[in-house]
Amino acid sequence: MLDIIPTSNGPQQRNLTESKHTMSARPLFTALRRRLYSTSTEAPRPIRNILIANRGEIALRVSRTAALHGIRTTTVYTAPDAASEHAHASPYSVNLGEASAYLDAEKILRVAKGWGCDAVHPGYGFLSENSAFAKRCAEEGIVFIGPPPNAIESMGNKSASKDIMLSAGVPCVPGYHGSNQDPAFLAQQAEEMGYPVLIKAVKGGGGKGMRIATSAAEFHAMLDSAKSESKSSFGDDTVLVERYITTPRHIEVQVFADNFGNCVALGERDCSVQRRHQKIIEESPAPLLDPEIRKDIWKKARDAALAVGYQGAGTVEFIFDNDTGEFFFMEMNTRLQVEHPVTEMVTGVDLVYWQVLVASGQPLPMTQEQVEAGLNGHAFEARIYAENPEKGFIPDSGMLLHLQTPKVTESVRIDSGFRQGDEITTFYDPMIAKLIVKGDTREAALAKLRVALEDYQVAGPSTNIEFLKTLAAHPDFIAGNVETGFIPKHHDELFAASQTPPEVFSQAALSIILSESQPLLPADPFTTLGGGIGYSGGFQTRVLHFSDGHSETPIAVEVSQATADSYNITIGTTLLPAVMIRQDSSTLYGYYPHTRIESTIVRDDDKLFVFQHGKQHQLTLSTPAWLEKLRGPKEASNSVVAPMPCKVLRVDVKEGQEVKKDQPLVVIESMKMETVIRSPVDGVVRKIVHPEGDVVKAGVTLVLFEEEAGEGGGA
Ligand code: ADP
Ligand code: ADP
Ligand code: MG
Repeated sequence: MLDIIPTSNGPQQRNLTESKHTMSARPLFTALRRRLYSTSTEAPRPIRNILIANRGEIALRVSRTAALHGIRTTTVYTAPDAASEHAHASPYSVNLGEASAYLDAEKILRVAKGWGCDAVHPGYGFLSENSAFAKRCAEEGIVFIGPPPNAIESMGNKSASKDIMLSAGVPCVPGYHGSNQDPAFLAQQAEEMGYPVLIKAVKGGGGKGMRIATSAAEFHAMLDSAKSESKSSFGDDTVLVERYITTPRHIEVQVFADNFGNCVALGERDCSVQRRHQKIIEESPAPLLDPEIRKDIWKKARDAALAVGYQGAGTVEFIFDNDTGEFFFMEMNTRLQVEHPVTEMVTGVDLVYWQVLVASGQPLPMTQEQVEAGLNGHAFEARIYAENPEKGFIPDSGMLLHLQTPKVTESVRIDSGFRQGDEITTFYDPMIAKLIVKGDTREAALAKLRVALEDYQVAGPSTNIEFLKTLAAHPDFIAGNVETGFIPKHHDELFAASQTPPEVFSQAALSIILSESQPLLPADPFTTLGGGIGYSGGFQTRVLHFSDGHSETPIAVEVSQATADSYNITIGTTLLPAVMIRQDSSTLYGYYPHTRIESTIVRDDDKLFVFQHGKQHQLTLSTPAWLEKLRGPKEASNSVVAPMPCKVLRVDVKEGQEVKKDQPLVVIESMKMETVIRSPVDGVVRKIVHPEGDVVKAGVTLVLFEEEAGEGGGA
């Protein structure tokens, strides 16, 4: 049962004329507040059992708060999530079936009713911004923990919301957001506002359906591609065209409104560092923001929420022009945001609890003044994704073979839905976890973030952890000079190749040798040994070859045993004497000879993940040439393979067709993202190996080319 707390300092059912923080001279708001006030005559509804209509970290996040307040939860899961932690977070858990079933509103409602739930928490994504679902909940007498359906609708359309914002005095990016979709007309609008322009799906979200057109020449191609992505992702191809701000920051305000006309701003978050228009690192407060502008952004965010009769948690996103200091409304997300924990860290507020309070008809527990008085410190969130930053941040998937997380304290929080052994599937978002840290100052918080990232070890899929470390150590990031183009702007420094220390190779080689049942035995002249095994001073010598992804050719590591517990390791011209080797499960302690090097080494077939001195190195054990020969010829190299597990959405070429280098061949979908696979060569398509609709694993051949005559097998 929900315990209602706000007695000591909270304004219980405040008299509206006293809540200064929502005061505005605008008659529109006065009328709205009256309307809102009337809803408060409904009796408060206790919430005793919440159905969590979501998965992973957010489902677990909601259950944590529910458990703190004696609220029962019912969870749902799908077939690919059957073994996941959230499916076991409650004794009441229901299998919805296929992967897409988190979107099945009717099935979820049936479960909610069947299990006696009085409320549904939609989390983020899935049904969270679906006004029809919010309406259906109301019809079934179930509380939707979110804003009223009409507020979702008003904000769900990027065009319509801008009209409402403009009439409420909230500045919007100059542009055309009307209903005329004639391409010639839109091109003319673009011409008038001046290039570059941004074409955006009005129903868009998650960075999809957005294209930048830098000149009139490419406008129509960008328009077509924005429209087609929008149609396939959101079932609607209406777009808007607006000025593209070249050095913007993304600053958003966490707002919270109740049914009594109160609306507070719980500070702002800077989410400028993005890839594919999606956030990677967020912080609160926004660095280097003028205090006057900060107050103004908070006020405009509250005006925005009040203008649509908002209730519950919401985020008003602004684009902040670094060149002029102007800011513009971008969109409002009518739900709890992925990055809500940074706000919780600096405000001390449990936003999920507030959501439950408001949904059960209670007033907000704090006024704007109380929120501001409670603001304290600086927080960062780093999103840990299964993805490959080196390959354009393409999502990855696979089993988490090894997972070690930093120690959780008052100021280090981890929100995750995965444990070691769990699988990151291609069905959903590739986010593994969120690492949230807090410090008294930005500098202190950033120092904690860097150390926590060093303690975060993930083996299995590729992750962005190393990238996040580089990012968090970048001088411009440290200085707070962030902008949405941060990654492309600093690309070279962020992706500078690093040299793998020799001890990484030696530790990897030792770990392989020590884990074999018969390590290096004293030489036995009667044993016939092939491959890279030889003899040295009465003991065997082994040579292993590793590639680290940086060096052109594999690195040869020669290990010979010197005494029972010491080895001589030679890498090129470097000789590393290592003594006293000890291995506990995946941790190897080597003494070189006085410096102890501790490495966690996880082996997956020929891949090795080496965690050493706060860095992750990925090595591949090369097959010796003689074994390669035994295995026979490799798959033809004149082919195109799937870069990740995916579904073939569209094949743009036919067998026998002549194609040019970089011509689109196939469009694949993985993790809700479309990727165009382009031809690596000028050539002729011999075979389409996987037609539309096929689901394939990473590395599978999609298209084969004719052998180029005269090129001797092609490259
Ligand atoms: P935020 O600003 O909080 O990152 P986004 O709109 O980028 O919000 O997306 C929030 C989450 O919603 C994503 O992490 C993803 O899990 C989910 N999401 C985004 N787009 C989609 C979509 N098209 N379908 C389903 N889930 C989505
Ligand atoms: P989504 O619903 O996909 O989150 P948004 O409208 O919030 O879409 O925009 C996502 C991101 O795209 C922003 O965080 C910002 O980086 C960038 N962006 C959006 N509008 C503009 C603009 N007018 N100029 C420059 N960048 C923009
Ligand atoms: Mg957005």
